[in-house]
Amino acid sequence: MSRLAKKVALLSRSYSAAAAPPPPPRPSSSSGRWLSHHPVVEPARPDAEIGRRRYSSAGYHVSPSSSMKGAVFRDPARPLSLELLQIPRPEPGEVLIRTKACGVCHSDLHVLKGELPFASPCVVGHEITGEVVDHHPLSDPKIVRRFPVGSTVVGAFIMPCGSCFHCSKGHDDLCEDFFAYNRAQGTLYDGKTRLFLHGSGEPVYMYSMGGMAEYCVVPANALAVLPGSLPYSESAILGCAVFTAYGAMTHAAEVRAGDSIAVIGVGGVGSSCLQIAKAFGASDIIAVDVSDEKLEKAKNFGATHTVNAIKEDAIEKIKTITGGVGVDIAVEALGKPQTFLQCVQSVKDGGKAVMIGLAKSGAVGEVDINRLVRRKVNI
Ligand SMILES: [Zn+2]
Ligand SMILES: [Zn+2]
Repeated sequence: MSRLAKKVALLSRSYSAAAAPPPPPRPSSSSGRWLSHHPVVEPARPDAEIGRRRYSSAGYHVSPSSSMKGAVFRDPARPLSLELLQIPRPEPGEVLIRTKACGVCHSDLHVLKGELPFASPCVVGHEITGEVVDHHPLSDPKIVRRFPVGSTVVGAFIMPCGSCFHCSKGHDDLCEDFFAYNRAQGTLYDGKTRLFLHGSGEPVYMYSMGGMAEYCVVPANALAVLPGSLPYSESAILGCAVFTAYGAMTHAAEVRAGDSIAVIGVGGVGSSCLQIAKAFGASDIIAVDVSDEKLEKAKNFGATHTVNAIKEDAIEKIKTITGGVGVDIAVEALGKPQTFLQCVQSVKDGGKAVMIGLAKSGAVGEVDINRLVRRKVNI
């Protein structure tokens, strides 16, 4: 049966049919962690198997009594607690995903440390891979065809509404609804969360899709098909670390073959920048960090030079490597005022300083205004 025919067969099944077909075999997730900076949480199989679907009067296929485990954040003084939540229900245009893997990103840590204010209780986690479990009966059939039940997907942390001013111009990263509802309120775009505690029904807010749970609801606009050849765990970071790095290197930095590049902070996003810079044909690729271990790994990701900013003056070293002029492009992937300044000072006249590290709320960076203006430094 062709791939298309399989999809048609899936679509023609009644929603009350038994469990979805098994996903295609995948390589082991324990080997080849090529971007190991984002530890990955792989949930165990749920206690409540929701293969036993049924039509409710609302048209949903998941029993309201089904529960799942999720890691709930309440306040920075307390560790995450594994709690029982209701299995979330997708609204039209949204997809219910059985989470297979979820990365831990630094911006999750900012929320957990109280450095980025966010609604609580909440579930963080915004780098997911998983298997499609369900759609709302009123979802556009094109969405159901694209992501049939049983298909495997990767989710992006920015979940564009697809119809606001910025989305309509192709600037998904500026989506008004994403920032107004998800980042400001912890909800999806009807102003409601999809997560509720099992039993009490207390609402639990969602940082992006709230991926650190056995199931999550994701707007279809934020999903892409995950090819069967890619493993769940290693692919989870495609939804933030790799996606952010690719956007920065392609659209903000506009890296060209032969460019010299410095990446300050080589965690998940920074090491992805190194790989993309190498793929784009950059010449000198300088990794800057304070961890020798990360710098050693950076060489595997494409760094041609490494600088430990504790042991050496990073700007001086970058200038020395580049014949005294600085790099064409410097990327700040840490989110600290000091590295913000280093980033701007590392670029040559006419160069670009690209900022992608999220800082503590309210953090302010300094810039040498005259150099910025006179030497045409772009930020
Ligand atoms: Zn992230
Ligand atoms: Zn939008």
